[in-house]
Amino acid sequence: MPGGFAAGVAFPHSAADVAALVAAAGRVLPIGAQSSLTGGATPRGELLLNTRNLTGVSVMSGTTVQAGAGVPLADLQRTLAARGLYYPPVPTFDGAFVGGTIATNAAGAATFKYGSTRPWVERITVVLSDGSRLEVQRGETIASPDGWFELAYPSGRVVRVPLPTYRMPDVPKLSAGYYARSGMDLIDLFIGSEGTLGVIVEAVLRVIPLPRRALVLVTCGSETQALAATAALRREAMGSWRGEGPLDVAAIEYIDSRSLAHVPDEAFARAGLPRPPWPAALLLAQIEIAGDDTAALERLSAVLDACGVRQDPSVAAPGDERQAARLLELREAVPAAVNAKIAAAKARIHPDIEKTAGDLVVPFERLQDSLMLYRDTFDRYGVDYAIWGHVSDGNLHPNVVPRSLEDMHCGRRALLDIARGVIAMGGAPLAEHGVGRSPLKQQLLRELYGEQGIEEMRAVKRALDPAWKLSPGVIFPEQ
Ligand SMILES: Cc1cc2nc3c(=O)[nH]c(=O)nc-3n(C[C@H](O)[C@H](O)[C@H](O)COP(=O)(O)OP(=O)(O)OC[C@H]3O[C@@H](n4cnc5c(N)ncnc54)[C@H](O)[C@@H]3O)c2cc1C
Repeated sequence: MPGGFAAGVAFPHSAADVAALVAAAGRVLPIGAQSSLTGGATPRGELLLNTRNLTGVSVMSGTTVQAGAGVPLADLQRTLAARGLYYPPVPTFDGAFVGGTIATNAAGAATFKYGSTRPWVERITVVLSDGSRLEVQRGETIASPDGWFELAYPSGRVVRVPLPTYRMPDVPKLSAGYYARSGMDLIDLFIGSEGTLGVIVEAVLRVIPLPRRALVLVTCGSETQALAATAALRREAMGSWRGEGPLDVAAIEYIDSRSLAHVPDEAFARAGLPRPPWPAALLLAQIEIAGDDTAALERLSAVLDACGVRQDPSVAAPGDERQAARLLELREAVPAAVNAKIAAAKARIHPDIEKTAGDLVVPFERLQDSLMLYRDTFDRYGVDYAIWGHVSDGNLHPNVVPRSLEDMHCGRRALLDIARGVIAMGGAPLAEHGVGRSPLKQQLLRELYGEQGIEEMRAVKRALDPAWKLSPGVIFPEQ
């Protein structure tokens, strides 16, 4: 999001530094790697609290790791991998920081198997708006039956935090304002609160043994075939988790034919693949192999055959990092190509043109309906678009490819219509990127929970941050 300006930038090295800064500052915006896609990390005159010096990773056991908020996920994974461990709920961008991903309840491709960041966070150290430090351990503080938390500050002050009463949609990933559920854990209020309730300085995360992984790129003849193959692979995976069969699929990414049309020939050449003919679509599946490689890959072949997939998949076997990097590079070429088109339109056609994209999730059984909704709505508004995303979760990112400023405005109206349709399907228009300072995303949040829901979130904020000091204007406006 362009146009950021800050009162200053601070680079604290410790929780004590953060506490002193927050206590003394007027308005503060904590930031991680600033990879937010919603303007959540773009300052509007606050003091920027850059967390990059809150480092340090310490593997506590075979099941938990303690990490500073400023640790990039790639560094965390490197340290863990050296001990044969892995942190599963990572977003596609592995430069994001531990604190940023907790603040946004980030999720990635493998949510289907592992869920979003939330269940992996065991403990956080958080600095509240008055500079108090709070240790929040999962399981220690549970909401009262009538929907309150009572927080005792080190100063002796006791604050009652009223919980929102809205019902969250039942979807595998959600980054849509404050988590609210009866009997909820206090830690879940801070996870996904996008820096508005406290600054996370450190966390204890759950980890697992590093899985052996293969990556498989599947060329499907059509979208219908790609969706059928995704459903079949999900069924196989769920069977394997019950001990029935060898095909454990952790994630499936989807790239539609419209997206592929934007990818330059060189990207296919680098991946060593021919450009698939229209209307082919691609699936990129992450397969975890505990036992015999051959059994898993033979089963994969049989499943794809049964779905009518004719072309042999491209496989990066476990340990073949070069081939895996090539396939991932092809996947990343999709957003890169679309973003380059948007940048070119901004430079050549109108400076106000900006990225306009959805982050929608629906229950998996409504995936086909949701894709029809996206396509019909964009067609009705007459805008060009491309769709890709984490298909195994029902989470797709329809992106407008604007040819004019008017296209961008039409695209935003289309996304609002789409959001209403997705909510009606039991889904959510805010799956993993959060709400941030984007006017469109904040409008989508109002669509999801109504004005009353937003007012209930404001009541939480007022209780914990009465001076509206932390990340003001993120998730919802003050008034
Ligand atoms: C190429 C690309 C791919 C992406 N793919 C995914 C994806 O697959 N899944 C996904 O979920 N997201 C994805 N994202 C979005 C982004 O990476 C995530 O939202 C990520 O969690 C942000 O982390 P960050 O460290 O960059 O945080 P920032 O962008 O710096 O901050 C994000 C928000 O968190 C708050 N915040 C940051 N640190 C703290 C802290 N220590 N305490 C309190 N609040 C804090 C900020 O105030 C801001 O509101 C992608 C982004 C890019 C650029």
